[in-house]
Amino acid sequence: MTHIINGKEIAQNLRNNLKKEISKLKNKFGDVPGLAVIQVGNIAASSVYVKAKTKNAQEVGIEVIDHHLEGSVSEEELLKLINTLNNKNNVHGILVQLPLPEHMHEQTILDSIHPDKDADGFHPVNVGKLSIAAHNDENLLIPCTPYGCLIMLKDLNIDLVGKNAVVIGRSNIVGKPMAQLLIKESCTVTITHSKTKDLPGLCKNADIIIAAVGRPRMVKGEWVKEGAIVIDVGINRVEILKDGEKKTLLVGDVEYSEVEKKASAITPVPGGVGPMTIACLLRNTTIAFKNSFLK
Ligand code: NAD
Repeated sequence: MTHIINGKEIAQNLRNNLKKEISKLKNKFGDVPGLAVIQVGNIAASSVYVKAKTKNAQEVGIEVIDHHLEGSVSEEELLKLINTLNNKNNVHGILVQLPLPEHMHEQTILDSIHPDKDADGFHPVNVGKLSIAAHNDENLLIPCTPYGCLIMLKDLNIDLVGKNAVVIGRSNIVGKPMAQLLIKESCTVTITHSKTKDLPGLCKNADIIIAAVGRPRMVKGEWVKEGAIVIDVGINRVEILKDGEKKTLLVGDVEYSEVEKKASAITPVPGGVGPMTIACLLRNTTIAFKNSFLK
């Protein structure tokens, strides 16, 4: 029978463990991790994510320092704020909610966050560390979504060594770091993208498929080998007609109804990768806090 990977439950366990750890750290150091959350503008989806991140962070005992800026704020002003937060002792992690308004250069902003406070793990220094490190080390600040996927894979208690893994998508926030993490687990990794030839053929040979594309239900049942593990990162909003009314439905990059019949384990959308991403952000903030005492 196909195992439906319960991201909500695994994320809850991770948060419970973090809560206990933060309480111990508070007793030891007399302080708790502080996470500065910066939102620029009022994109509805960003507001939903920021709200969820703030609530989850506070629940585990992280202090959230909220900065909601006008969409018209200049890049210079945002850089100034980040510089101030970089130098604040009570801020251990800084998160800039993406996307940023068009007049800002995203990479310039992400690069301005001090690497030690890089809660998302997007800074070139941390990307480099992830690429160089031999193991998925406890002190590294690793991009949250792919690390969440790895935790879910490990939760299956299977031997990852030598498994053929196909990562669909080569973005800096999901595809590339996902590949790095899987290489370190000794998987044989194929990174695929929009220019890849014969994606279905490559997928058919995969023991593990990680789909991070942003195309609703792209991965079909016939692409998937019997018994493969399928992690669906995609979050796509599609319109459906229900009882004559237009409704928005959240679907992944995988044709779930077909793939579920072939896979040995699969993540649903919603309730799969999404909750893990937030839990891993809290994990990174806690790591940054602990690292600040190692210096
Ligand atoms: P992106 O747009 O930056 O990258 C998409 C990648 O897919 C690109 O590398 C592109 O080459 C590849 N691609 C596009 N068309 C393809 C095709 N036909 N065949 C093969 N590859 C193709 O997207 P992203 O930021 O990596 O996000 C991917 C998806 O994951 C989106 O749906 C996003 O909403 C979702 N996401 C979810 C979470 C979460 O927490 N669950 C976090 C981040 C992203």
